[in-house]
Amino acid sequence: MLKPLLAGLLLGGALLAPASAALAQKTYLHCGRLLDMRADRAQTAMTVIVENGRVLAVEKGYSTPTGPKDQVIDLKNRTVLPGLIDCHVHLEGETSKDNFLREFTENPADVAFGSLEHARKTLLAGFTTVRDLGGSGVNIALRNAINQGKVVGPRIFTARKALSGTGGHMDPTNGYRLDLMGVPGPVDGVINSPDEARQAVREQYKRGADLIKIASTGGVLSVAKDGSAAQMTEAEIRAVVETARDLGLAVACHAHGSEGMKRAIRAGVTSIEHGTLMDDETMKLMVQRGTWYVPTITAGKSVADSAKIPNYYPPLVTPKALAIGPKLQGTFGRAYKMGVKIAFGTDAAVFRHGANALEFGYMVEAGMPPLAALRTATVAAAELLGQSANLGTLEAGKLADVVAVEGDPLQDIGAMQRVRFVMKQGVVYQP
Ligand SMILES: [Zn+2]
Repeated sequence: MLKPLLAGLLLGGALLAPASAALAQKTYLHCGRLLDMRADRAQTAMTVIVENGRVLAVEKGYSTPTGPKDQVIDLKNRTVLPGLIDCHVHLEGETSKDNFLREFTENPADVAFGSLEHARKTLLAGFTTVRDLGGSGVNIALRNAINQGKVVGPRIFTARKALSGTGGHMDPTNGYRLDLMGVPGPVDGVINSPDEARQAVREQYKRGADLIKIASTGGVLSVAKDGSAAQMTEAEIRAVVETARDLGLAVACHAHGSEGMKRAIRAGVTSIEHGTLMDDETMKLMVQRGTWYVPTITAGKSVADSAKIPNYYPPLVTPKALAIGPKLQGTFGRAYKMGVKIAFGTDAAVFRHGANALEFGYMVEAGMPPLAALRTATVAAAELLGQSANLGTLEAGKLADVVAVEGDPLQDIGAMQRVRFVMKQGVVYQP
C-alpha cells in the first residue's frame, strides 16, 4: 500500500494538502551521490535542504538541522536526482487485447478510476511530472484532482484531446460501424480547414488544455490503413500553431513520415513525437528551427512485441506495428548524432505505466551517454515544458521534486528502474 509521508511524518490516507506555510520545518536530504544536473558529474556527500515544497539550499557535506522540528532523510547509499519528467504519456488508458472494445463499454467514470492507478504507478517510478498527450478529457479532471491533493500522481501538463483530420490518427470514430461513426468536428478534435483548426485549438483551451497535440501523419494504433503519410495540410498546422501561440500553448506533433514532419516543423510546432521515418533533411530542419524531438523508443519496441501475439491488435493495426515499431531506436540514434534537441518521452499507455525508465536503457544502447540520457528527462524536458524556473535541476528556489535510486546510473543505467525514494513538491511518497 502507498504510504504518503510528509517531511517524514506519516499522515495516513491519500488526502494530502499541498506544501503550505504550515510546514515551516525543513527537511534535510543526506545524499550519498548527487546528480543535480548542473555539474557534469556526480558529487558525493551532499545535502539538499527542502522548505515549503522548494529547494532552500544544496550544501557540501552532511549538514546538521538547525530547527527543532527539522527532519533528516538518510539517502547516503543512494544516487539522488531531480524528479524525472516524461514528455509523452497517456494516463487515461493502458494497452490490452480488448482496448478497442473498451471504447464502447467504458464510461468516463470507469476511465477515471483506471487512470488513478496509472498516475500512482508513474509517480512511484520517479516521474514527478508528465505531459499527457491526449485522451478524452478525463485527463483534465485527473490533473486537477492531483493538484488539489485529492489523489496521488505526477504533476500533469495535458493536451486533453488530440487533433487531426477526418479519418486521421486522432479521429475518435475510426473503425466504428457506420451508424455509430457520425461526423465528428472541431469539438471532437477533427479538423478539415484552417478555420476548423483555429476553433479546435480554442475548444481545447476552453476545456482546460495546457498545450495542443496534433497528428500530422497517420499512426500505428488508430484503426486506419496508413501509418505514416501526411494527414494535415501545412495551412491547417500553421493555423493550429498561430492560434496556440496566441493562447500561450505549445504544440506537440505526432508524426511518423518525413513529409508530415517537414510541414509541421516549417509551421513552427514545438516538438515532433515519435519521428520514426525521419530523414536527414528533416533532422537538419529541426536543428535549424530548434524543434524538439521526443522519441518514445519504448512504445516502438512494445507495439512490435504485442503485434506478434495473435489478434492482440485489430487487423489494420498489426502490420503497421510490425513495420514502424522496431525503427524508432535507430532513428533516435541518428537524431542524437545530428544534434537534434531531445526530450525524454515514452508513450506510456502503449506499454504499462510505471515502466517509463526502460527508455533510458534504450537511449544508452543507441549511443547516448547515460548523463545525456538523464538530462533529456530533467533539464531538457523542463525547457520543453517552459518550466526551467521550477523543474529540471536541484538548486535553490526550484520545486523540491527529488528521486533517489539504488546504484549509480552513470555506471549502470538500469539503476533508473530501482527507484527507492520519491519527493514531489516537498511531499515524500514511498515506492
Ligand atoms: Zn502517444
